[in-house]
Amino acid sequence: MSEPLGLFGGTFDPVHYGHLRLAEEAIAHLGLGGVRWIPAGQPPHREAPQVTAAQRLAMVHRATAGNPRFSVDASEVEASAPSYTVHTLERLRRELGDRQQLVLLVGADAFAGLPGWHRWRDIFALAHVAVSHRPGFPVETASLPLELADEFNARRQADASALQAGPAGAIVTFAMTQLAISATQVRKLLANDLSARYLLPDDVLDYIQIHSLYRNA
Ligand code: ATP
Repeated sequence: MSEPLGLFGGTFDPVHYGHLRLAEEAIAHLGLGGVRWIPAGQPPHREAPQVTAAQRLAMVHRATAGNPRFSVDASEVEASAPSYTVHTLERLRRELGDRQQLVLLVGADAFAGLPGWHRWRDIFALAHVAVSHRPGFPVETASLPLELADEFNARRQADASALQAGPAGAIVTFAMTQLAISATQVRKLLANDLSARYLLPDDVLDYIQIHSLYRNA
């Protein structure tokens, strides 16, 4: 049987080392064959964005280049209509077949917000979910919305080998190096003309500078 494939969605506005370590450590801790990065398309309600979806995609390409286990999926960025995670998973299922183990990678903050996602319960029929620890966001039943806590308790597996056992449906957690970096922090630094160096790859910072991004965020 093939190795599980990690799927990592996000706004990546911009991509930073918190994202990169999450993907890198997920491969090691969860035994993934690789991680497919899936930058989100532009939310329709956001007006005149300073940074376009194509630019966020370009930054993810720069950040992930050179790692043969990383690939980038531009489908959400290129879609004309808003693309929800559940639609992306349905498309990947059609592409990769029913037997491929898919593992949706999320940080603890994103996981806690899962009940707000379109058709969120259907996600468990399409993929496993692996939740990484993130500073300030505990992964424990008491801090989750009730309906999610029920799913968490029912689906939680202590051992990552559960991801090999079937194509979808389990929830695992994994501890990654704790990095209190956020894209919000990076945007604020850049907007105030302060250094964001060492919070994200130099190649991404170069791109930001060349295109004068995040100047007045
Ligand atoms: P923003 O500050 O704009 O909300 P962000 O830094 O949280 O952005 P996103 O693109 O929204 O980045 O996050 C994509 C995914 O990466 C989410 O699942 C999020 O939980 C996770 N993530 C982001 N930063 C970290 C981090 N420092 N540690 C662990 N997980 C992270």
